[in-house]
Amino acid sequence: MAAFGFFRLGRLLLAVAATPLAGPVLAKAPELPQTAPVPQLNQQVTPPPPTEIPVPEPRPEDAPAAEPPQATQPQNGQPRTEQPEPPPIAPQPPEKPARAEPPASPPGAPPNPAEADKKAEQKILPDPRSAAIAGKEMPGEELACRRRLKSMGVDFEERKPEHDTAVGCSIPYPIVLKTLGKSIAVGPEPELNCQMAEAAARFAASVIQPAAKAEFGTDIKSIGQASAFVCRPRHAGGKLSEHAFGNALDIASFTLSDGKEIDVGPAPPQKDAKFLDTVRKAACGPFKTVLGPGSDADHSLHLHFDLEPRRNGGTFCK
Ligand SMILES: [Zn+2]
Repeated sequence: MAAFGFFRLGRLLLAVAATPLAGPVLAKAPELPQTAPVPQLNQQVTPPPPTEIPVPEPRPEDAPAAEPPQATQPQNGQPRTEQPEPPPIAPQPPEKPARAEPPASPPGAPPNPAEADKKAEQKILPDPRSAAIAGKEMPGEELACRRRLKSMGVDFEERKPEHDTAVGCSIPYPIVLKTLGKSIAVGPEPELNCQMAEAAARFAASVIQPAAKAEFGTDIKSIGQASAFVCRPRHAGGKLSEHAFGNALDIASFTLSDGKEIDVGPAPPQKDAKFLDTVRKAACGPFKTVLGPGSDADHSLHLHFDLEPRRNGGTFCK
């Protein structure tokens, strides 16, 4: 190539030598190619610089992250220099778990329901009532409870004890109610422990019946229950439901002697709402837990009453 170019240059010189303007022609020819590429390069280069500038910026950011490993690698290579490193790293791990423990313990049980659900899935809290097994003879308090039910005109039948060690359900002396008093039927027939059955019967006579007469001018004919004794694992919360001990009753509807039905729900008619509100408020006390529409999604269509034992006879009515 160089020889070919030189040959071309020689031919050019021979051609130029024939003319008197050989000098200026030679000067103009080299100047054009030299100046032309330079401005073109400068124009092309000017736009890229802005784009190239941001590129080098992220590189320096990556560089510091890459620097530490480089520093540690040479130190790891040295057997004795590893000792200074562990001390600074060792105190950091203990600090992190220490910080994680405080937030984990507060939301553990009451404040954070999500944490409670997680714990419930892992293990259900034990309940001493799960170990209750029927004896050969019925205890005196159970016999006394049944005598009181009969005196109130409650119709009921005895049922065999139910005890599920896997889930923890237990109802040693269950009864099945056919009525909640002389004139109030209940269905489907709920299986309950006698204490809960007695509380329900007393509440029906002292609160539900008078409230119906006051609001509708007629008697309650029957009460529709949605759940009584149910042996199933509890999905929300870390303890078994009171239903697992026959210690809870869910009421879904009330039927008056004239056939009118009052359904528990989130938006009942005004007259029904007043009756339901009266019953619900009066239930807090005779029952230790009262839930219903507005409490949560699980109780939007029934009133939940139970006798969950609490310290100092406390109640939970929401
Ligand atoms: Zn319930």
